[in-house]
Amino acid sequence: MTDRKDEKHKKAMQKQKTSVDSSVAQANIDRAVAILLTGNGKGKSSSAFGMVMRALGYGHRVGVVQFIKGAMLSGEELYLKEHCPQVEFYQMGTGFTWDTQDRQSDIEAAERTWAVAKSYLEDASLDLVVLDELTYMLSFDYLNEDAVLSAIQNRPSGQSVVVTGRGGGKRLQDIMDTVSEVKDVKHAFNAGIKARKGVDF
Ligand code: ATP
Ligand code: MG
Repeated sequence: MTDRKDEKHKKAMQKQKTSVDSSVAQANIDRAVAILLTGNGKGKSSSAFGMVMRALGYGHRVGVVQFIKGAMLSGEELYLKEHCPQVEFYQMGTGFTWDTQDRQSDIEAAERTWAVAKSYLEDASLDLVVLDELTYMLSFDYLNEDAVLSAIQNRPSGQSVVVTGRGGGKRLQDIMDTVSEVKDVKHAFNAGIKARKGVDF
């Protein structure tokens, strides 16, 4: 019985190896990529910061812009500011409609923050740029979509970019190389469990 199972497993693995090897052989374009992490489930920003850690592991230069309210505590901000002075980091500070309910001040904050993001997207010394929660700036129409798309498309050829946030629209998806949608199967919050330091923020 065990022998048969072992044999079946071996055959399945051989088949998988052939398929993976052939896909790897076909991927022969070596260039930086644009990644969109979207969807309603948990895991978008944390995935982006996972890539920041990977990049730093190779001594790459990284720029991070968070389009979120500065008063919101985030472990990634605390860590990067304390331990990674080599990482360029900028957070929006003010803004976000449901807090300020002042559209004009939100737009000003979005534009000020976008100016920093744009400067990162023009900086060839940055290997990786994370634009966390950028999609909301597009869905609220706070930023000009053409300007954002063109800055992402015209970034330096060696620079990868990661955009996070729900939605974002078809045009954004179209210009990205990789688009992942994190599905909300279930979330602790909906069972009344509080957002947890070090896990959720
Ligand atoms: P994370 O930063 O944990 O990777 P995220 O970037 O995918 O989450 P956001 O929409 O940016 O998700 O939300 C940030 C916060 O909201 C986190 O505390 C996260 O746990 C929580 N959150 C994410 N998805 C859900 C959900 N479906 N229901 C309730 N809370 C959620
Ligand atoms: Mg997020």
